[in-house]
Amino acid sequence: MGVSSGTPSKASKDTLEMILLGPPGAGKGTQAKRLVEHYRIPQISTGDILREAVDAGTPLGDQAHKFMARGELVPDDVIIDIVEERLRQADCAPGWLLDGFPRTLAQAQALDAMIERMRCRLNLVVLLEVSPDEVVARNSFRRSCPVCGATYHLKSRPPREDMVCDECRVALVHREDDKEEVIRRRIGVYMEQTSPLIEFYRAKGLLQSVDGHLTMDEVTREILDLVERARPAENVR
Ligand code: AMP
Repeated sequence: MGVSSGTPSKASKDTLEMILLGPPGAGKGTQAKRLVEHYRIPQISTGDILREAVDAGTPLGDQAHKFMARGELVPDDVIIDIVEERLRQADCAPGWLLDGFPRTLAQAQALDAMIERMRCRLNLVVLLEVSPDEVVARNSFRRSCPVCGATYHLKSRPPREDMVCDECRVALVHREDDKEEVIRRRIGVYMEQTSPLIEFYRAKGLLQSVDGHLTMDEVTREILDLVERARPAENVR
């Protein structure tokens, strides 16, 4: 049994708190879905939460839509409150996987404060590295299922039937913010506002990089390996 002093932590080998970082189209969503199935923790995708709010026409959706359609970030205070509320839900007790948050230094600092308040411990930040040209190529061929959120690539991972989701059997859509002009703006926003987080987490000793050009299965294997190496060997209480 490990011994700790000061504030008791609920971090243990049984919990997993991690972040997937990387440009739009790096494969965060796809990898997140595989990881949460493996570790049985919730995937918290701020993009999915916002898209649901837009589709449902809630006040949050109305506010977020104009930023999303332009490829810009939704204001920090809005997104930080959403994440804190989500992390406090009961299904997050065994841990969580953040996909698309944090995206600015202010969000990362707010997450640090939340983690402290909730007495959890961030195990790992995985950076999926993909070149800007590849990002544009991936997003312009990306189509998503409006029901389950599954993503397809029309060339490298097409649906079994033309433009129809394999699982839900509904017509796939090309997300408004995956169109080339918006994607280029999203890459600019990533470089300017999100990429400073690489240094932020590297300085904390939490950052590990994976080559996002590998196959999906290879990327998953590498991440699973990193998770096993990052988690504490014994319970810390
Ligand atoms: P995503 O599906 O993660 O690429 O997110 C789609 C869009 O939602 C982004 O381009 C932003 O407009 C918005 N969004 C998602 N997550 C965040 C965040 N953490 N901070 C600000 N805006 C966000």
